Amino acid sequence: MKRVDYSGRRYGRLLVLSMVYEAGKDAKARCACDCGAEKTVTAYNLKSGNTESCGCLARERTADLNRALQRVVVMGEANRTHGYSRTPTYTSWCDAKKRCYSPQNKRFAEYGGRGIGMCNSWRTSFDSFLRDMGERPKGMTLERLDVDKGYEPGNCIWATPAQQAQNTRANVATWESVREMRKRRLEGATYPKLASEFGMSYNNVRLICRGETWKEGGDAQ
Ligand SMILES: [Zn+2]
Repeated sequence: MKRVDYSGRRYGRLLVLSMVYEAGKDAKARCACDCGAEKTVTAYNLKSGNTESCGCLARERTADLNRALQRVVVMGEANRTHGYSRTPTYTSWCDAKKRCYSPQNKRFAEYGGRGIGMCNSWRTSFDSFLRDMGERPKGMTLERLDVDKGYEPGNCIWATPAQQAQNTRANVATWESVREMRKRRLEGATYPKLASEFGMSYNNVRLICRGETWKEGGDAQ
């Protein structure tokens, strides 16, 4: 039997390191796969293209295929329920509803948890929301003008992040709430606890408690 040495040759992801010859058996090649694994395959499978990796390639293709199938299923469902599904406007509507009505949503405490909801007409109909708000312009988010009121016509705009920052509850703090917060801090309340009590971001609570903003004797921010 003729012994062919494939060492140093590359087949797909496999680089042949050395050959293994055993009497009465097909020649084999010990290969290093690009993923770092080692695999010994018959020279026949290498040359014929049957084997192109340690198995990682097939696993990745299967995962890709599953993801593609998943997308098809999701898109199919979205198209059945509404042509607008998964558009930016629809996403904003969905996310706002989750903040108000899904206790598992990570921002629920700032919204549903303190009584912020969505008007019945919007809550039950995306069409109604779309009719009142129009399509979400690029780079904007759904924002409430009065942060103590819910998502309803007259209280919502599409806003840029800068407009939104002006409107956060942190910026409607009052001297009364600032002093109360500092007092609670001195009594030992933690920043996360204060953030949730006062409905402010951790960062704003920290700045206020350290006196880096809302300086006594200065102007309110
Ligand atoms: Zn591999």
